[in-house]
Amino acid sequence: MSHAFQQCIHPDCQATFDLRQILTACPTCGSLLDIQYNWDEVAVPKSLKEFEKRWSTRLNPLDFSGVWRFRELLSFPKDEEIVTIGEGQTILQKNDRLASHVGMNPGTLFLQYEGQNPSGSFKDNGMTAASTHARMVGAKITACASTGNTSASLAIYAGVSGLFKCVVFIGSGKIAYGKLSQALDYGATTLQIRGDFDDALARVREVCDRHPIYLCNSVNPFRLEGQKTIMYRILEGLGWEVPDWILVPGGNLGNSSSFGKAFMELKQLGLIDRIPRLAIINAAGASTLDSLVNHKDLQWNDGKNDADLIRSYYDVMDRDDNRASTLASAIEINRPVNLVKALRALTVCDGVVRSVTDQEIVDARAMIAANGFGCEPASGATIAGLQRLRAEGVIAASDRVVCVLTGHQLKDPDLTVAYHMGDPRKRAEKLHPAGVTEFPFANPPIAVDNDVDAIVAALGL
Ligand SMILES: *Cc1c(COP(=O)(O)O)cnc(C)c1O
Ligand SMILES: [Zn+2]
Repeated sequence: MSHAFQQCIHPDCQATFDLRQILTACPTCGSLLDIQYNWDEVAVPKSLKEFEKRWSTRLNPLDFSGVWRFRELLSFPKDEEIVTIGEGQTILQKNDRLASHVGMNPGTLFLQYEGQNPSGSFKDNGMTAASTHARMVGAKITACASTGNTSASLAIYAGVSGLFKCVVFIGSGKIAYGKLSQALDYGATTLQIRGDFDDALARVREVCDRHPIYLCNSVNPFRLEGQKTIMYRILEGLGWEVPDWILVPGGNLGNSSSFGKAFMELKQLGLIDRIPRLAIINAAGASTLDSLVNHKDLQWNDGKNDADLIRSYYDVMDRDDNRASTLASAIEINRPVNLVKALRALTVCDGVVRSVTDQEIVDARAMIAANGFGCEPASGATIAGLQRLRAEGVIAASDRVVCVLTGHQLKDPDLTVAYHMGDPRKRAEKLHPAGVTEFPFANPPIAVDNDVDAIVAALGL
């Protein structure tokens, strides 16, 4: 077996599989899979600082990529197998204006802008890795179910690389237009399923089980390897100092899971001396993780977590036809596929879970935009979560905090415009049903006659 392999995360199983097998669950016990490494066979740098050398050799596409310049920490492919389109050129922005709004001290709050990726969301960090594995196994067709960003990301990798075709499954009516327009533009075959995201994911898994189609959802363990690098870049942005907190929105929980794995490995390798705490923020209308962890006391428990508890939670959800519902469509997911891995991440990172309302999410999103580069609604959940955790005293004003802004502001312009415009019809249609009735950060345009005196008067000059 090579120095890297796939391994079942269940402690009673731990079955291992070759890298070139195409799996999205353990064939023996059905649990999730990890990519694991025999670290003594990998030339891992002695210090994270050594990765900085690659800034000077960035004409090499592998050194330019914000994912693959850390390739010793995700060394499953050979260099020549890597599919990269220049992902991961993202910025860690210190934001003192926002810090003061949320009761943090100056110099403590940082925003990690993953919207700067080629397709406008963090998904590209994972899709470069999944596309690489798809190439390693010679896949001809790739597929995913998506609330929007996964499809945009897979479609751009398929389009730019030309290595495979791609099919994306989306739910009906729920997708933000910025994201749908990308899948269509990049040439993906787009199937709109009559159902929601959870349905679309169940169907794409069935199709991929029956046909030789390579699945790129976050049950794909290779994808999560790429997403680890978001944490490496944050550490790099902080001069390799470990922050106190990482806040991330929780949807399918792939990010949360990969962040936990990243820190677990860095600590094991002696590359960091402590692990930051993780706060996973759900939307109140899609809060499975929050409910199970905070109200049913579900825990990782060394991998022996309570499968019956999870099953009965889903049974009740199905019985009541309880569907995920939030304006933050990227996290509108009731059956997070990486739930168990996220439990592990919570243990590794001494993490907490909270959920925030759509009102809190859209206000936080608007506040970020008014003080920073902006982001889509799901990403706003991080700042809304930070406000909660500050109010509870869980996060201190002096803690060093990084919020991962997962997607670009322009992904969902409809919602932004409805929030700002003050158009009662638009608001009644889009925002009121989600419980959003107040608009403290609205900045509506001013209608004015086509006349210089009227314009001057409107400006109060
Ligand atoms: C996919 C996505 C999420 C959810 O991430 P998970 O890894 O599924 O928890 C959050 N925000 C945005 C913008 C996304 O595209
Ligand atoms: Zn197993």
